[in-house]
Amino acid sequence: MNAPYHLPLQEASRLETLRQLELLDTAPSEAFDRITRMAAQLFQLPIAAVSLTDTDRQWFKSKVGVEHSTIPRLKAPCAAVADSGRMLEVPDLLESECFRDSPLAESGIRFYLGAPLVTKAGHCLGAMCVLGTEPRAVTDGERATLTDLAAMVMAQIELQHALGRIDPVSGLPNRNQFVSDVRDLSLVMAEGEPQLAALVSLATPEELSDAMRVMGSAWLDDIVRAAAPDLRRLAGGGKVYHVGPTQFAFLAPLGHSLVRFSGQLMSWLSERTPMGQAAFLTTATVGLVRLAVGQDAPLDVLRNLHSAAHDARDAESGLRVYSAEQDAAYRHRFWLISELGRALAEPEELHLVFQPKVSLRDGSCFGVEALLRWTHPEAGPIGPGEFMPIAETTSLARATTEWVLAAALRQLAAWHAEGVTLQVAVNVSAVNLEEPDFCERVLDGLARHGLDPACLALEMTESALMRKPRAAQDTMARLAEGGVKIAIDDFGTGYSSLSYLQDMPADVVKIDQSFVRGMEKDERTHALVTTMIKLSHDLGHRVVAEGVETEEVAALLRAADCDEAQGYFYGRPMAPEALAAWLAAR
Ligand code: C2E
Ligand code: MG
Ligand code: MG
Repeated sequence: MNAPYHLPLQEASRLETLRQLELLDTAPSEAFDRITRMAAQLFQLPIAAVSLTDTDRQWFKSKVGVEHSTIPRLKAPCAAVADSGRMLEVPDLLESECFRDSPLAESGIRFYLGAPLVTKAGHCLGAMCVLGTEPRAVTDGERATLTDLAAMVMAQIELQHALGRIDPVSGLPNRNQFVSDVRDLSLVMAEGEPQLAALVSLATPEELSDAMRVMGSAWLDDIVRAAAPDLRRLAGGGKVYHVGPTQFAFLAPLGHSLVRFSGQLMSWLSERTPMGQAAFLTTATVGLVRLAVGQDAPLDVLRNLHSAAHDARDAESGLRVYSAEQDAAYRHRFWLISELGRALAEPEELHLVFQPKVSLRDGSCFGVEALLRWTHPEAGPIGPGEFMPIAETTSLARATTEWVLAAALRQLAAWHAEGVTLQVAVNVSAVNLEEPDFCERVLDGLARHGLDPACLALEMTESALMRKPRAAQDTMARLAEGGVKIAIDDFGTGYSSLSYLQDMPADVVKIDQSFVRGMEKDERTHALVTTMIKLSHDLGHRVVAEGVETEEVAALLRAADCDEAQGYFYGRPMAPEALAAWLAAR
């Protein structure tokens, strides 16, 4: 018997495997004890153990006939099994050069037989061993038996480990396995070597939830089953990991360049037949990440894959390669949302400013638009043009509008109490129109302050109205019935059809500043604005022009019969006190 040898690198990865299996210092388990009892019985020996070789100790996952659960690694026969990866038989410890003076021999043990516990990757974790207090010979049959028992122990270890690493429905390895395999790439590839990973998303979360509501989870099983062969082909026969409800990750086949790999994925995206039989259209996207083996944290790789697949929804090809800049933008969005959520809860950071709308006929000011301002304690002022489009994609849209409405109604009531009769316009988001109780909340708020509903106008953009036209139209109709005025904001920038405009119970159309600001220089824009005014009038709407910055534009608008104007030429958005002074000065 040779002295135990140590290959430092191999030993390090062996220990790493042992750690990852999360076996050390775990509670006894009947599944292992059953095998150990069987070993003692088959060999008619008093001692049997499943012994794992840690850095400097042997730890017994299961044992029969031993009190302690750990012994030093030094001079332990099981450690020699782990080092060599081979079966070790010591018919008589006292006759053995290596173990004669070992603690085992000192404790009265004479016989040892240990079979290696070897993982699929070839790491030896320790030994399945039987021990006796008398010297003993071993037959071929007994060697085969112990080898079988060791294999049963390994099967049990792998089974336990697989639980929590396999998706129970698809049977594919899950995200835990992906993370662990990406970490293990450094065992088979050189540190820093480039590797490509892909994440295929078969449907957006919205599509998933819509479809699950109608079709139940069978739909999910169907799309996963239908895609599996394609995914395996794209992975070049490598492992495909089920990392999210409709998300699958895999590594590029060896030697694939970014161009080749992304080309294959893009043609799959364009050729794939959407799930016709499931009657739900799904949007598949692909995110790609370039990683350096052993250097990029596996969890970051996974997060970046998700982020690229998410961004890929905006890409015509449906595929995006992860970029750090985009990720930074995304993190900024995330930061904005969480900070806005906080600011709404402690609103000293938020306030409203009011911008007058002026009659182009007699210069009178009948109404103002409430605009939200946010001064972040560290980042300073953040414009609504920056945070509202982001907030509008989250549940914060409800809380924000709620805050703005409450503040605007308070201000309106205060003005009315002072005898200033103004109409206040509040901007609302698309999602507000889809809230079933939105109309009631608005009317309740007005009633609470004893305000005439006609003092309030709600501005909504064309695109907000087009998102879920039926819900929007319903809410709008109920608001209009309640006496609240409705304005279509940023008119001309969306895609609403004329027939649609005709059906809307809107009082006012606000022509977007992008048309107004250029109209004095460009004849075509001028003509366009003139037509929009005429058309809106014909449909019975009043017209407000936004972004009026010069006398010249004001004159053109007046000539085109526009009703009102709003813009820096008349007044910037102002705090209530400044507005009072502005009104007094007119
Ligand atoms: P909007 O509703 O179209 O508001 C008009 C925007 O144009 C305001 O920008 C206003 O300050 C700016 N503006 C007015 N006159 C002029 C002008 O003559 N020249 C120029 N260059 N700009 C002018 P602001 O306050 O930055 O708001 C931007 C957008 O953010 C608003 O566009 C609106 O869509 C949104 N927003 C603002 N406050 C709220 C709010 O309380 N709720 C919601 N949902 N959205 C809001
Ligand atoms: Mg507006
Ligand atoms: Mg506007």
